[in-house]
Amino acid sequence: MNTFDEPRARWVVGNWKQHLLRAQAETLAGTLVGQLPDELLDRDDTVHVGIAPTFVALDAVRPWTRPAGPLWLFAQNCAAQESGAFTGEVGPTMLKDAGANGAIIGHSERRSHFGEGDALIASKVRGALDAGLRVILCVGEPLEVRRAGNHEAHVLAQLTQALSHLKPEHINGRLIIAYEPVWAIGTGVAATPGDASTMHNRIRTWLTAHYGQSGADRSLLYGGSVKPGNAAELMAAGDIDGFLVGGASLDAASFLSIIQSAATE
Ligand code: PEP
Repeated sequence: MNTFDEPRARWVVGNWKQHLLRAQAETLAGTLVGQLPDELLDRDDTVHVGIAPTFVALDAVRPWTRPAGPLWLFAQNCAAQESGAFTGEVGPTMLKDAGANGAIIGHSERRSHFGEGDALIASKVRGALDAGLRVILCVGEPLEVRRAGNHEAHVLAQLTQALSHLKPEHINGRLIIAYEPVWAIGTGVAATPGDASTMHNRIRTWLTAHYGQSGADRSLLYGGSVKPGNAAELMAAGDIDGFLVGGASLDAASFLSIIQSAATE
């Protein structure tokens, strides 16, 4: 089995948000593992599958996640601080201790509902990478920004700030970027393959300009109303290395279909 840190690895990660009790999470993880075709898990060039349950269910799904099982385990958030008087927070080493392989950072629901700004997100990204976690950094523009035609500048500004605390050596396979237009998350209206691909291309160009080959090689995921019906078309558009999936990841058959598209397109 490889390290999954290779250039432009394909990833499909299910963001379970604030859903599922522990027993339900364990059942869904077990169902996924039971139905994932062996060839998807064994070959180096296929897709790497992750799940992101709530903090309290991390431990419940552990039998199905690495190193015991084939799934990669992500937390949905990660404190910037390792530990201290920060009531309600969970630090990077605590997440590792709970079995997490990585964390989603900067999801638009964290930005909009919980006031997370770019400076905090930058600290979280650095802290999580320093602790050895993988990071799925989310960026994406709100609808009004896209309507005004400022979406590329908006996303590149988010990226600039989120990566501002990193050293060149942090730009490796542990850093995964998810482009998630806010207007596409949970709405049923995905970006067109062309629009998603164009933004991924801009992000990759920006990463290459700033970090050379290490930037060019990063996995760029698309997120926002990905479903079995649009996954193959999105993958085929180019420059999309997989998906961060919300709603459709709660249904094993839908999620497996999306994984299959990501592996074969
Ligand atoms: C998400 O929560 O990251 C997401 C992309 O949600 P959905 O797939 O439901 O749009």
